[in-house]
Amino acid sequence: MTWAGIVLAALGLVFTTEVSVADEKAAVTWHPAKPRVGDVAWVLVKDVLDTATVEGSVDGKPLTFFPYAGGHAALFGVDLETKPGTHAWRVGVIEPGREPRSAQGRVTIVRRDFHVERLTLPNTMVDLDPETERRAVAEGKQLATLYRTITPERFWRGKFTTPVGAAGAGTGFGSRRIINGQPRSPHSGSDFAAPKGTPVVAVNAGKVVLVAEFFFPGRLVVLDHGLGLYTVYFHLDTIGVAEGERVERGQTLGTVGATGRATGPHLHFGAQVAGARVDPTTLLGLPLID
Ligand SMILES: [Zn+2]
Repeated sequence: MTWAGIVLAALGLVFTTEVSVADEKAAVTWHPAKPRVGDVAWVLVKDVLDTATVEGSVDGKPLTFFPYAGGHAALFGVDLETKPGTHAWRVGVIEPGREPRSAQGRVTIVRRDFHVERLTLPNTMVDLDPETERRAVAEGKQLATLYRTITPERFWRGKFTTPVGAAGAGTGFGSRRIINGQPRSPHSGSDFAAPKGTPVVAVNAGKVVLVAEFFFPGRLVVLDHGLGLYTVYFHLDTIGVAEGERVERGQTLGTVGATGRATGPHLHFGAQVAGARVDPTTLLGLPLID
């Protein structure tokens, strides 16, 4: 580097420092303060007008904010394969008539031990012929693409409700599965055992974005709740909603079945936040009220 370059670099450094010193700091809180792997957490930026533009990221992945409780909030999904430890976040606020504000820090993601589950299934459901394999891969990609699509409008409001009444809490999220002796991808949802024909309801308001019959999930419904939040309902026996339909919290989507790869009648319920596979039971426990 030339002397001129060094001087310019030094000036740049001074300039950058001055800008960040002039910045007023945004007040940011994490809920919970130390999320576990698989949790749905939320970030609150306090004292921000509804009309403000708030943006931010965790590990460079964008957060999608919405006006909430006199500030702006965003959900953050800790994917079930996230490395525990500290992860960098940043937030920026632009508000009319006020200096831009920003804040940054690190959030600690706490480890969580998942069960190892050994399953024995008919070989025809495990060792797929090439055509079925291609079909299953294509269906998986279709779902992954859908989950990464962020609808700019928030459809959900307030508390989430359980997808099957009286079935208790779901089980098996994050289980490392060994099927017929071979390790498979971790279980990305929660299973609710219930008799065939039990009504399955929307856990919150949303839009039906997919009704299909896929190889592993069987008959399925995917709901888009907006701002990157999706919930999925697999192995259904019957489906009573159509793609494009808006649904309310508690509205019946269909009934419990054993379609696709299922050892018996149950609902596989899953949730995704901006493509992160999260424990849907932590979504049901979200304390946001509005
Ligand atoms: Zn399942």
